[in-house]
Amino acid sequence: MNNHTLFLKYLCQTSPDPIGLEVASADGCTITDTTGRRYLDFISGIGVANVGHRHPAVLEAIRRQIDRYLHVMVYGEYLQAPQIELATLLATVAPPPLSVTYFTNSGAEAVEGALKAARKYTGRPGFIAFDRSYHGDTLGAMSVMGQSDVRRPYEPLLPDVQILPWNDHAALEVIDTQTAAVIVEPIQAEGGVRVPSAAWLPALRARCTSAGALLIFDEVVTGFGRTGRLFAAEHWGVTPDLMVLAKAMGGGLPLGGFIGRPEIMATLSRDPPLSHLTTFGGHPLSCAAGLASLRVILDQRLADSAAQSGHALMEQLQSRVGHGGLCAVRGLGMLIGMEFESATRCERFTVRCRESGLLLGWTLYDDRVVRLAPPLILTDEEMAEGLSAMAAALA
Ligand code: PLP
Repeated sequence: MNNHTLFLKYLCQTSPDPIGLEVASADGCTITDTTGRRYLDFISGIGVANVGHRHPAVLEAIRRQIDRYLHVMVYGEYLQAPQIELATLLATVAPPPLSVTYFTNSGAEAVEGALKAARKYTGRPGFIAFDRSYHGDTLGAMSVMGQSDVRRPYEPLLPDVQILPWNDHAALEVIDTQTAAVIVEPIQAEGGVRVPSAAWLPALRARCTSAGALLIFDEVVTGFGRTGRLFAAEHWGVTPDLMVLAKAMGGGLPLGGFIGRPEIMATLSRDPPLSHLTTFGGHPLSCAAGLASLRVILDQRLADSAAQSGHALMEQLQSRVGHGGLCAVRGLGMLIGMEFESATRCERFTVRCRESGLLLGWTLYDDRVVRLAPPLILTDEEMAEGLSAMAAALA
């Protein structure tokens, strides 16, 4: 049996039609398949490879850590330099006063931790999230998912969750003294790359503050330079109480975390202690890779590159609106959504691009929207190559 047959037979499938590209290697902005075909990667493993695939600094950090130690103890007991150095650097770059990090293995697990911390700190039951939000697929994270048809087969989920309309000022009135936390993606990715209006996130912040509810920003997709700032919160000058991170955080290795105000994070160590634990969260190899990746993002000012390249890319794509069923282009930095007039045209565009060697993404809740999230190290030549493949697919 070939690998394709084995993949379908022995790996639990998540959809009836996986892409099925058989990977041989990946470097920078390209992936090569086992037939030797090279693809330009404009989705970065869904927003993970912000510094590109196998960045030399990340590889070097992994090699150094392999020679020292791998897993030695559950999270939170021993002093492990990669965790300490990464948490320290995060504290210097996150919006103050967010300075204490809890490391996890994934985004969903970080969402779970942030929700638990909010309940424990406030002593309140309720959570609020938004229409078309996506925060991961564990039961707690699904409880704050704003897509009822995806949630339904797994119900009952957490009680006391309300889903409000996105970008709606009047709806924020619902946030009250029973609300432990409001969780929001500053830009909804799976919801169709939706950017809120300038005043909405500041209004949400103000309402949470007046109700004594915590504000959790899910920056799993938008963090680490993706939108043209290190964290998307900076675009709106809004500081959440807790910020959830993952995807690009590990530089290509699995790593997530949530960073918060010290007094909120302190609740996880008591009443009772040891009630929020993880074996592998903050694995030293992942933290070593994440630290190297974050240093590259900061040293090479990749958030600025994302702002510039994203602007250029979006301008070029906007000039194609009206071709091939493309009706809108939106986003921020290197997180871009291309909206088509129908799901069929959207699918055709993505398939044509793939056939010509360009990999693009999707959005879970809007089958008319293609997502672009190229590595932030994309060169001008690579951008031109991607644009010409997209122009041909739209023609
Ligand atoms: N939050 C957001 C905004 C996401 O897009 C995702 C995953 O795509 C998650 C959380 C969950 O992250 P993970 O897949 O690492 O559990």
